[in-house]
Amino acid sequence: MRKRVIAANWKMNGTLEQANNLLDAFAAAPLTVNENKIAVFAVPAPYLILAKEKLSGNPYLFVAAQNCYSKKSGAFTGELSVEILKSIGIEYVVLGHSERREYFGESNAFLADKVNICLEYGITPIFCCGEPLEIREADTQNAYVAKQLEESLFHLDASAISKLIIAYEPIWAIGTGKTASNAQAQEMHASIRSVFAGEYSEKVADSISILYGGSVKASNAAEIFAEPDVDGGLVGGASLIADEFIKIINA
Ligand code: PEP
Repeated sequence: MRKRVIAANWKMNGTLEQANNLLDAFAAAPLTVNENKIAVFAVPAPYLILAKEKLSGNPYLFVAAQNCYSKKSGAFTGELSVEILKSIGIEYVVLGHSERREYFGESNAFLADKVNICLEYGITPIFCCGEPLEIREADTQNAYVAKQLEESLFHLDASAISKLIIAYEPIWAIGTGKTASNAQAQEMHASIRSVFAGEYSEKVADSISILYGGSVKASNAAEIFAEPDVDGGLVGGASLIADEFIKIINA
């Protein structure tokens, strides 16, 4: 059975005091997590160790980096390596978020290298894909997302690809308050799953968790997560409000 995953993406937000308060709230909250449903917190890099410590009392809460570099170590000032992440016990990394693609020019090929090094170090990539508004308006989103997957992931064998988590995030829905309809989310998630089935097998496709991201809130989480191919969410803005994100985890 594939896992349900609710992931928080704090992006470049929160002072140390705010991070402490949020993490304390999540650590103390009654959360409906278990071995089949986990929560992952992608916090700013300076808070990774703090988050690991604060959430350590619950075995179903994990910490993720929001990015990593494609090389093991070396003269890459300002970058974060998987070797460093592994050494502090980080098990997940968000890769290919649309903000990284747009503002930092991350290409599908560069992301393929990042995926490879994460897997080499036993770190699970939460691999983001999703189309901009003009692609959605032209109704070519399925092919656009399939190409992102193909160019970054399809060099992997079946056992490696099964380790990934995919996050489908239509760019026009990120931070805009505009959520994809349940039907739009389900349609794309089913399309992504069928692309994996075609490239690998039904069994592989069925094993991969596909999260939806884009203005998920407590008020819409349950209905989106109820779609058969939606296995959880990647949540930005609402993950910075403790009560809101606790409701989303429990939705
Ligand atoms: C995100 O950052 O991945 C995201 C989906 O943001 P928001 O929930 O704020 O739209």
